[in-house]
Amino acid sequence: MRILLVEDDPQLRSLLNAGLTAAGYAVDEADNGRDAHFLGDTETFDAVILDLGLPMLDGLSVLKRWRDAGRKVPVLILTARDNWSEKVAGIDAGADDYLTKPFHMEELLARLRALIRRASGLASPVLQCGALALDTRSGRVTLAGQPVALTSHEHKVLDYLMHRPGAVVSRTELTEHIYAQDFDRDSNTIEVFVGRLRKKLPAGMIETVRGMGYRLT
Ligand code: CA
Repeated sequence: MRILLVEDDPQLRSLLNAGLTAAGYAVDEADNGRDAHFLGDTETFDAVILDLGLPMLDGLSVLKRWRDAGRKVPVLILTARDNWSEKVAGIDAGADDYLTKPFHMEELLARLRALIRRASGLASPVLQCGALALDTRSGRVTLAGQPVALTSHEHKVLDYLMHRPGAVVSRTELTEHIYAQDFDRDSNTIEVFVGRLRKKLPAGMIETVRGMGYRLT
């Protein structure tokens, strides 16, 4: 899953980036509203963390522009303490959730998981596909109750596929959602990760749809 992190405070931004990366997210950053708007307009993200007080273009305007343009990406806004009117304005502008500074990383991660889940139409934090289960809270993957050991890239691919049960996911889509923009992307490596995943999962669970991509069944 790929996150756009918009925060102009360099210290907070690097703290959040480290926490998100450790939780397995691919992270792109922006430190001002103009860059944030451009990235959200041109790149694909699974969720956006958007500070409202930003240089060049404020967060509320960025959010309104995305929503006016029909962009549906889940957005979690970061608001200043004791500023209830900012929360109201943010939610009315199309934010899906908010956090008031200062907050705990754990709470940010929990809200993010919920946003991404809901955007996929999934209610439970434990994603299921037959005997395969992925607990989005702990990252634990089990097959018929037995733990499955995955590398971080295998985990990212499986996590994305399990958020889209039954859907055909192309290699390009997978590449866009598991790597940040500055990463040297190569969709051939996706094939390698899927190949390794297949060896750890029941035969036929990850189907190849010729010319289109992969489907979890
Ligand atoms: Ca700020």
